[in-house]
Amino acid sequence: MAGTGIELIVSTLIRPINGSCEETRDRLSDHLEGSLPPRRERRVRRHLRYCRRCRSLYASLVRTVESVRELGRRDDAELSGSAARVVVERIRREDL
Ligand SMILES: [Zn+2]
Repeated sequence: MAGTGIELIVSTLIRPINGSCEETRDRLSDHLEGSLPPRRERRVRRHLRYCRRCRSLYASLVRTVESVRELGRRDDAELSGSAARVVVERIRREDL
């Protein structure tokens, strides 16, 4: 789904400052794990502030990771990291 016209125009104009949706989605799982370098982290945060689609994507990623954590406590960090990537990959395939 491409989103509304206004949203598309705004995101195109702001892209050089805040990064594209594609770039942000690639980094959501790292953002969730807190493993991004500070400059990239700020870029993702700024993007999420104005981009509703990426914000809801991030929210569903957080929910999924939390439910995966509840399912299995072993190798917690590794499990949540890979689950986040699987979700991002799946949503990107469906959404773009
Ligand atoms: Zn976005």
